[in-house]
Amino acid sequence: MNSERIYLDNAATTPLRAEVVEAMRGAAVDADYNPSSLHAEGRKAARLLDSSRDRVAAVLGVHRNEITFTSGGTESDNLAVAGTMRAAARGSQMVCSAVEHHAVLAAVRALADDGYRPTVLSVGSDGRVELETFSAALGSSTALASVMYANNETGVIQPITELAATARARGAVFHTDAVQAPDWLPIQVPSLGVDLLSLSAHKFGGPKGVGLLYARRGTAMHPLIAGGGQEFGRRPGTENLLGITGMARALELAAAERAAASDRIRGLRDSLESGIASSVPDVRINGAGADRLPNICNVSFNGLESAALLVALDLAGIAVSAGSACTSGSLEPSHVLAAMGLEPGWRRGAIRFSFGPGTTAAQVDRVLTILPPLVDGLRHPSTARAAAGNDGGMGRLKERTARGWRQ
Ligand code: PLP
Repeated sequence: MNSERIYLDNAATTPLRAEVVEAMRGAAVDADYNPSSLHAEGRKAARLLDSSRDRVAAVLGVHRNEITFTSGGTESDNLAVAGTMRAAARGSQMVCSAVEHHAVLAAVRALADDGYRPTVLSVGSDGRVELETFSAALGSSTALASVMYANNETGVIQPITELAATARARGAVFHTDAVQAPDWLPIQVPSLGVDLLSLSAHKFGGPKGVGLLYARRGTAMHPLIAGGGQEFGRRPGTENLLGITGMARALELAAAERAAASDRIRGLRDSLESGIASSVPDVRINGAGADRLPNICNVSFNGLESAALLVALDLAGIAVSAGSACTSGSLEPSHVLAAMGLEPGWRRGAIRFSFGPGTTAAQVDRVLTILPPLVDGLRHPSTARAAAGNDGGMGRLKERTARGWRQ
């Protein structure tokens, strides 16, 4: 019996990298002071903040003053969307896609209640925003367009460079939520051509609760919270300096290792997908028709409840997520798969396997050994119960659902 757990939920969060822990340990003393203080201790902290800003700016290919440190992806997305719109005239239009993370969609909804005009674009069955649809939606009053770089549920990559060029040519500010990108895709801003870009450290081996927003110089933006003048007045509040130090190291590592890690993990992901397709009937890979991140496999098991399979896999030592882990506190079906036109039977049975740089071939082999009989057992419960002499994990599922699945 192999008792090692297999963590395939890296799109929800990645483990903190050892090198990042090391960097944070080394910076802990200086990071213990307030970078806004004028005394020697404060000046040391300010130097640490400055050097971290320089390092992330170098990875992104931007000027240091264009970086705003935040508490993570949700805040960066909110600052990008609401900060930009609040700097524009009420009644201005904002455009986003139907497959955005809730951090963007909910911000757009809240602004709509305040008199700004939302346009939420549909996507094709492959999950991609079509350029013509995007271009047709932009008008003279469009202040902002926001389309994510890669989707957190399916891994589908959007044509960001083309979308950004189209928006900018029409005078709109273009934001991309690049939270899922750094371990797998190039993130140099000059090549992407975006005005605003959100990142979150815990998605690429850094600590939780820290992120950044890149904002092109001259982009008008209102701070969302009132306070002091930190972060060039864009984000008041004492910075999470230790977290920022860890994020800078994690971003450098992600950029340096991206190409090799992507190739290796794409191979493993492809072998998981072909293994599932050949051993489990009635499955489909969501987003398979589009360019995808190499680490995400979103597969629907027709007729199954994904929560039941998630719990069965968890009991077998494999951590995955159903739909979006960021919102799996609720068991709501995925808005992303709905936007792609998936019928409810397929949507309900969707599981996301998301690999990390540390995922191994042996782990994939083990998933392929464990998964087919589990799916079969859930699809034919009476046969499986008789064989296993238990309830197939349903008791634990009910208990967790009652607790509300916060993660
Ligand atoms: N955007 C995307 C694409 C995400 O995947 C997530 C988190 O899952 C977020 C935003 C929110 O990031 P954070 O957890 O740092 O608030």
